[in-house]
Amino acid sequence: MVSNGADQPLDDFVRELVRDDAANERFGGRVQTRFPPEPNGYLHIGHAKAITLDFELAKEFGGVCNLRFDDTNPDTEDTAFVDGILEDLDWLGYQPNGEPLYASDYFEQLYDWAEHLVSQGLAYVDDQDAETISQQRGGFGQPGTESPFRSRTVEENLELFRKMRDGAFDEGTRVLRAKIDMQHENMQLRDPVMYRIRHEPHHRTGNRWHIYPTYDWAHGQSDAIEGVTHSLCTLEFDSHRALYDWYLTQLPLPGDTPRQTEFARLELTHTVTSKRRLAALVQDGIVDGWDDPRMPTLRGLRRRGYPAAAIKEFCSYIGVSRANSRHQIELLESFVRQHLNATAQRKMAVLEPMRLVITNWPDGQIDEVEVVNNPENSDDGTRFVPFTGELFIEQDDFRADPPPKYFRLTPGREVRLRGAYFVTCTGFDVDEVGNPTTVYATYDPETRGGNAPNGRKVKSTMHWVSAQHAVSGSVALYERLFAAEVPGNETGDPMDDLEPNSVTRLENCMFEPSLADLAPGEVVQFERLGYFAHDPRTPLLFHRTVGLRDEWARIQQRG
Ligand code: ATP
Ligand code: MG
Repeated sequence: MVSNGADQPLDDFVRELVRDDAANERFGGRVQTRFPPEPNGYLHIGHAKAITLDFELAKEFGGVCNLRFDDTNPDTEDTAFVDGILEDLDWLGYQPNGEPLYASDYFEQLYDWAEHLVSQGLAYVDDQDAETISQQRGGFGQPGTESPFRSRTVEENLELFRKMRDGAFDEGTRVLRAKIDMQHENMQLRDPVMYRIRHEPHHRTGNRWHIYPTYDWAHGQSDAIEGVTHSLCTLEFDSHRALYDWYLTQLPLPGDTPRQTEFARLELTHTVTSKRRLAALVQDGIVDGWDDPRMPTLRGLRRRGYPAAAIKEFCSYIGVSRANSRHQIELLESFVRQHLNATAQRKMAVLEPMRLVITNWPDGQIDEVEVVNNPENSDDGTRFVPFTGELFIEQDDFRADPPPKYFRLTPGREVRLRGAYFVTCTGFDVDEVGNPTTVYATYDPETRGGNAPNGRKVKSTMHWVSAQHAVSGSVALYERLFAAEVPGNETGDPMDDLEPNSVTRLENCMFEPSLADLAPGEVVQFERLGYFAHDPRTPLLFHRTVGLRDEWARIQQRG
């Protein structure tokens, strides 16, 4: 059994650092974080880790966490993603400090600060193309080459930079670069690009700008404008920290200088979390959209039936560290199962139905049998389910020629129908190729409620649905989207590891009547089959969230 860890106080290197800062009166004891998504895709499980860290940390230390859209790239960003991100954050249960903020709201200030660097001789306009600039950067242990435009005068740079801003030049013809050190051992400091020319409308600033700041030029400065104290990002930004600090050191900042700290990304087995790859899955039609239940996006997981609380507890449990690692997806699933076990109502659903006729059932009689809604929670009470002489059972629950240790229905065998009666199989019909079509049985009226008065035992209990009362619908059963534990490990391309059949749809499933009234999105346990989420848009379509068996326990036993 996995303990969720959420009932113990969290501790990790980030919290230690924040405590240290508080003890040393750094930032005047203030704690302010921010979550900075780029609105070029929807949030995924990896973002959930960053979100829980940013928001929970702020909460624990009496601080605040901003939501800032890092919308510095006009090409791929979209207001649909902005709205989706707000929705998903709300679903996780986090409210940003005040209104959502946008890096694009700081374009004016960033521009002024860029002019400040130019006027200090710390930035210059380079007329070379991106490829040349990239070649001149050199590499680790290899020298960089200074641009022939590096020694332009302040006046010339200012004039050119203003013209860039005013749209006087074509895309790709000039950039603004910081003038730092072309021989610096950290490549990020070899005169990084600050602005590129783009004649592309922006989702918030429209056609106002012809130049757009790079991530590095925008990020630390946006943190400083907002008063962020602890800017937490993933490890790949480790080498950018020196640049983050360099920019902030050169500027006349109004307050404290924020500090960047890096932590390991969340990776899961059988899963990709790169937005570029997720977007490709959608664009290539491999999944049905960003909210396909196979997607690791928050909207996909939500549609699949993952409770937000389970995702947050998983994130707390795995914690934050500075070492990259990949967690087993089964661990996340065990958090989901643990939550649903406590909260999901039990229902009966027959996914691959076969008729069971009870030959000694009084003609036309309907019994309302009382069954428990959730054995884990007595407050959930009981419900009545109609039982009649003609039922549906799973095809798999009957065998004409049972293999060894098959304890379900077979000629001569007595079993329990959950909450109803004991029945004994007396025969069956077959179709022209010999497959059973209808099973016959007799019931024992003395076993009402599913127990024999004389203590007689049966070896199996089966679920059922009254044929006359059943509502029909469909379910989707899922495999991993990627067959390999580490997608792309062999060939470098995760798409090579796609599971060819990751979804199986079963139509004509038979559900107990109460499922007709189930709320969109609600998750229930289908007895003996697993947890299933009611689709938010299509009534009586269910997505299998997780099975009943704790795969994580099995993995741990295996060691
Ligand atoms: P991608 O590289 O796939 O586009 P990203 O990191 O650029 O992802 P952003 O929208 O910029 O995506 O991310 C917002 C925040 O979420 C950043 O602080 C980023 O570090 C964090 N984040 C993104 N992916 C993960 C992950 N897998 N695990 C933890 N944090 C993540
Ligand atoms: Mg990013």
